[in-house]
Amino acid sequence: MARQMSRRPKSLAAFRKQLLRWFRANRRVHPWRRDRDPYRVWLAEVMLQQTRIAAVIPYYDNFLRHFPEVRALAQASEQDVLRHLAGLGYYSRARNLHRAAKEIVERHGGEFPRDFDAVLKLPGIGRYTAAAVLSIAYGAPYAVLDGNVARVLARLGAIRGDLRAPRQWQQLAGTSQELLAVQSAGDWNQAMMELGETICTPKSPNCEACPVSGCCVALKRGLVDEIPAPRKKRAPVRQRIEAAVLLDKRGRTLLVRDPGAHDDVLFSRMWQFPAVQTAGNDGAELAKHLRDKYGFAPIALTELALAKHCVTFRNITLAPFLARVSELPKIAHSRALLLSQLNRVPVSSATRKIAAAALDAIDSGVTDRGRARNGRAS
Ligand code: SF4
Repeated sequence: MARQMSRRPKSLAAFRKQLLRWFRANRRVHPWRRDRDPYRVWLAEVMLQQTRIAAVIPYYDNFLRHFPEVRALAQASEQDVLRHLAGLGYYSRARNLHRAAKEIVERHGGEFPRDFDAVLKLPGIGRYTAAAVLSIAYGAPYAVLDGNVARVLARLGAIRGDLRAPRQWQQLAGTSQELLAVQSAGDWNQAMMELGETICTPKSPNCEACPVSGCCVALKRGLVDEIPAPRKKRAPVRQRIEAAVLLDKRGRTLLVRDPGAHDDVLFSRMWQFPAVQTAGNDGAELAKHLRDKYGFAPIALTELALAKHCVTFRNITLAPFLARVSELPKIAHSRALLLSQLNRVPVSSATRKIAAAALDAIDSGVTDRGRARNGRAS
């Protein structure tokens, strides 16, 4: 498509003009579009990775209140950074953001680098994020390519096949770069993304409202619904995770750090309840886990309401069990805190769901009436 157009410079110029004009008239108002400060642009791009805009907005403003510039972020503790992003998911992003802030301060004098290769060396930054930040913040001539932009390009050029296949993706990256309006790189990249997010959507694209419909080969050939070809989805996997919510007489519970244990993704290497993936559903494997892994004395486990949790292709059933104890056991890599004050430490959304089930049960008195399941460790 770009080649067809680049042989006809006038049509390429018109295409760029139409898209930029549409974007400048219709751009959505987002907090990260208030200015072009590289720190803020970078922060937004990292938060928006695989996360909906609506979910990001409250976190973005809150994060900036606590870490208004890169030095403040670099000086913060990792726990503090994680705490302010807890609930957003993908916590490796938060850790990389923190590490990158330190590198920017230590190696680049606190200024986001302008060199593409230097940016790529920062933790957690790939080609897409580097191109987005450099073009939006500095106007540098790097075109972005993500799923939205790839879909737009594929339809504009009626490109069939698996867009994520490495060769295809590389060609799309080349096309994206050829189309780039170099003098307005930041606006151009945002225009392409915005077109994919709001008009040229995966299902039922709004071609009537599309500013570049006159250049769209898929539309001309009636192929819009066939491009891109649907991706083969990985078959969903069902899992059950049982977790123990210990509760002492003061309402305190026990959280552990368990890096490298059964599931780094689910609990994101943050504070979590002792937990294990099980095949059965009666708490017996959880009781065994508590005994074998942590040396817990026999403990009565009361089953609470189940919670659902989905991570990519995994459909997870979270099965919390409450255990009332006179004293919390003292074990390494653990901490005790009030169950009602869990938000004071960084925890994943799975841990929040488990805590919510326990608090609901305690509030309604279910656990006092409920029958302990077969979770008594021997
Ligand atoms: S005309 Fe339709 S399919 Fe083509 S780019 Fe525009 S919205 Fe997408």
